[in-house]
Amino acid sequence: MFGILFAIFIVMFIGVAVSIGIGFWRTAQLSGKIFRGVEQALDQQLNEQRASGAAAQKLKCQHCGSTVVQAAKCPSCGADMG
Ligand SMILES: [Zn+2]
Repeated sequence: MFGILFAIFIVMFIGVAVSIGIGFWRTAQLSGKIFRGVEQALDQQLNEQRASGAAAQKLKCQHCGSTVVQAAKCPSCGADMG
């Protein structure tokens, strides 16, 4: 009698342990997905900020009209960009 109860207890314990383990695993997977999503969103924001910053730093040469990026002198005509 005691042996049967003990066996049932062990089976229940294993079942609970497995379900808790699966729950933890799913939570970890879900949080990993959320973390990755947040990371990607932050990366995208950073890239957009960098892109807008690069666009803001683009200058137009007053002499030849060509676009100059972060240069003291125009690479096309050599005019000083100030
Ligand atoms: Zn120029």
